[in-house]
Amino acid sequence: MQIENSLCDYDAVEAVNLEMRGLLDNLVQQKYFKFYKLNLYGTCPFWTENHLCMNEDCGVAVVDEFQDTTAYILKTIPEEWTSAALGAISSPMGGKHFQPFQSCNLKDQDFCQVDDEAISEGVYVDLMENPERFTGYSGPSAAKVWDAIYNENCFNVAQKMQRAAGCEQCSLDREAEDEDFAESVQAAAMSGISYAQNPMSLHQGHGHGHGHREQEKKEGQNTSPFVDPALNSLTGGSAAEKEEEMCLEKRVFYRMISGLHASISIHICDEYFNQTSGIWGPNLECFVSRVGAHPDRLENIFFDYSILVRAVTKLSGYLHNYEFCTGNPEEDTKVKAMVDKLIEVSSKSPAIFDEKAMFVGPDAQALKLEFRDHFRNITKIMDCVGCEKCRLWGKVQTSGLGTALKVLFSYNDEHLNPIKHPNLLQRTEIVALFNTLNRVSESVASIARFRTLYMEQHGLP
Ligand code: FAD
Repeated sequence: MQIENSLCDYDAVEAVNLEMRGLLDNLVQQKYFKFYKLNLYGTCPFWTENHLCMNEDCGVAVVDEFQDTTAYILKTIPEEWTSAALGAISSPMGGKHFQPFQSCNLKDQDFCQVDDEAISEGVYVDLMENPERFTGYSGPSAAKVWDAIYNENCFNVAQKMQRAAGCEQCSLDREAEDEDFAESVQAAAMSGISYAQNPMSLHQGHGHGHGHREQEKKEGQNTSPFVDPALNSLTGGSAAEKEEEMCLEKRVFYRMISGLHASISIHICDEYFNQTSGIWGPNLECFVSRVGAHPDRLENIFFDYSILVRAVTKLSGYLHNYEFCTGNPEEDTKVKAMVDKLIEVSSKSPAIFDEKAMFVGPDAQALKLEFRDHFRNITKIMDCVGCEKCRLWGKVQTSGLGTALKVLFSYNDEHLNPIKHPNLLQRTEIVALFNTLNRVSESVASIARFRTLYMEQHGLP
């Protein structure tokens, strides 16, 4: 399998990730990165009935900008970020009812719905005060949202070419995934190996995902965006290769959302609330059943990680010259130094994602627009999540991935110059990108911790 060959060096990724952990952890605690402004109470645009999670842990504590101007804003949010200041900057002629950002949230380059900091209905949230963890949100509401998200993995442009190339149809995707789980349990039972041994599969070569990886085999082996000299044929000219290419973007889309789903599941299992003991802590069984027993889900987390690292590395020059405005020049310099150091370390990570392998065929532009629109839809689906805390982190992380896609696919290196083009990225996008990298990096670190826990519990060396 191409993707396995290319992604075989998990140890190298984990080693660099370990070095990045402290830096990222420190970075996201900085004022610039911990305050995120978003529209937390948007209406679900896709269906009307929405079950709200009433658990205490589903709630979000928001920062009230207007609570106490002198005491609170000055201590927490830099004055420049307040609605009043942003409104004043963005609308010099603005009267009380002038709302310049109401209808222009999406630029062509945006892969996600960007919540502008000047929007009046947005709220500031301190991400440190609202950690992503087990909330108890589940059942039909959560399932409906995940279904809607995976249904976005259906591309019209790709579809007609896929049929010719013998690819699976959209509607079969989730079934294949479900079969994957059933098959892995059955295969494990038949071989006498507990499927719970799969958490080590990444390292011990037991990886044998079925559903979607089977699908990949059908769709063509040499179409992974992971860097490999063999992939050069992807940009070659035969009709069959172009058809396979259509399948590639669809697979990338699927892997991104499955990776996000798996990463969220890991955070739930890592910070799990045991309702019997009343204690928060890692839940190995939860990890094994939701992620560890599915090698493809584990791989998809590494997939998201490599996309985010690639985006951050591509942004190195841009961020080096970027003004991190915190309201305090010393803090600005400190934040810039931290970002520089983080990018320096992240660039040691194996370069395994090559965005240039995507969107290169004759229908590239149409496919790219469709890919973008579908990803935007996923960011809109977040308004249908019936648990505020899950919605918050869902929005942060889909915006973070959307920003990575924007960096990788909307701009070339010459564009990424903050002096010539200062407004390519909003603060919210940069904050979302780094917080998402932090969450996925935490998942990569958690996989190693769960692996150790598993070995200990099973008395394995
Ligand atoms: P789910 O995770 O709901 O999965 C549904 C089905 O999808 C599974 O049965 C399986 O067939 C398939 N599936 C599962 N994982 C993958 C994967 N990685 N790739 C492909 N297919 C997969 N709950 C919290 O406690 N805290 C949170 O912070 C939180 N955030 C959320 C954010 C969003 C955007 C959403 C939609 C839900 C969130 N939830 C959160 C709920 C959580 O994700 C689960 O839906 C819930 O815990 C129920 O889990 P489940 O075991 O029923 O399966």
